[in-house]
Amino acid sequence: MPDKRIGIVGSGIAGLMCGQLLKDAGHSVFLVDKGRRAGGRMSTRNKRPWQWDHGAQYFTVRDQRFAPYIEALNEKGVVSEWFDLFPGQALGKKEARYIGVNGMNVIPKHLSSGLEIHQSMNVEKLDYENATWQLMMESGEVFSCQELVLTPPLPQVVNLLEGSNLLNQIADSKRLASVNYEKGLSLMLVLEKPSQIPMPGCLKLENELVSWIADNSKKDGFSDEYCITVHASPKYADATWNEQNSVVANAMIESIQPLLGSKIVDWHIHRWLYAFAKNPLKTAFYREANMQLTIAGDAFISSRVESAALSGISAAESLIQSFK
Ligand SMILES: Cc1cc2nc3c(=O)[nH]c(=O)nc-3n(C[C@H](O)[C@H](O)[C@H](O)COP(=O)(O)OP(=O)(O)OC[C@H]3O[C@@H](n4cnc5c(N)ncnc54)[C@H](O)[C@@H]3O)c2cc1C
Repeated sequence: MPDKRIGIVGSGIAGLMCGQLLKDAGHSVFLVDKGRRAGGRMSTRNKRPWQWDHGAQYFTVRDQRFAPYIEALNEKGVVSEWFDLFPGQALGKKEARYIGVNGMNVIPKHLSSGLEIHQSMNVEKLDYENATWQLMMESGEVFSCQELVLTPPLPQVVNLLEGSNLLNQIADSKRLASVNYEKGLSLMLVLEKPSQIPMPGCLKLENELVSWIADNSKKDGFSDEYCITVHASPKYADATWNEQNSVVANAMIESIQPLLGSKIVDWHIHRWLYAFAKNPLKTAFYREANMQLTIAGDAFISSRVESAALSGISAAESLIQSFK
């Protein structure tokens, strides 16, 4: 099947893993993504000399199919272990939590190597006719392929298919449309002095407003600047979606003041319309064989980096098998 071209929408971890495996198996692949950089929610905000991981904070490796990729990245110095126990956690709960060295985004950057990726390309509409997919970009450009893999958060996939009058051709469209995502909000702070966050430099909180706080200076490869990432609880992110940034920042800062213990030099907010899938589907990916369409990403199995990667891997393995 050497002539088939495979298009992947999304250069997050799911799209990248899928693309790498298909390329390694000798297939012709391209990726398009509306973001400026590859990585999706595995993102690092840079405002030199300041730097924050503001999406995914760490990831686990529980599945033996994911482990070899992370071992290889570890050997190359792209990935390292951050910690294996939260403060106060029982020893029996030990589990390695991995990060990208010098920022989570170095992982997708590394995985992009050798792939044909077109960033800043927003797919506005799809067309499927005569066994060929056409991807219409906001810029007016058009990409064609015979196999299509969609990896954005599932509600965005459903909207795209619906807006292209294709959702009614998907057998399981109701199940796909049933997946909902929680909103997210990341507050990035710069402190004047070191924070009071205990080692390893992060805490899960059960505060009404804040669910997570992390000191980026405690991570491998980050500078000693006091850059703190604070995540709003999903409930607070949702309730304050249209609220002024300064109001939200002040309320969140007040609720975690003892953990900061310092004057704030600068702050930024990033909002995530689709942060985590609330009710992921139980299969690793979805395939509509009659339309040469595959859907993957973190809406399958569980909304985590490892699951998204495994969804991309499983989708690629199934496609490679079907081409034989
Ligand atoms: C604040 C936050 C904290 C998190 N913390 C953790 C954590 O600590 N540990 C963990 O394991 N997971 C965490 N997660 C979840 C994890 O980041 C995701 O599960 C995983 O990164 C999803 O990867 P993906 O490839 O499925 O999707 P994404 O990374 O979202 O990639 C999808 C890509 O599709 C692109 N796209 C969307 N629509 C279009 C379009 N129309 N045209 C072109 N491109 C398009 C997007 O730009 C994006 O790059 C966190 C997520 C958030 C938001």
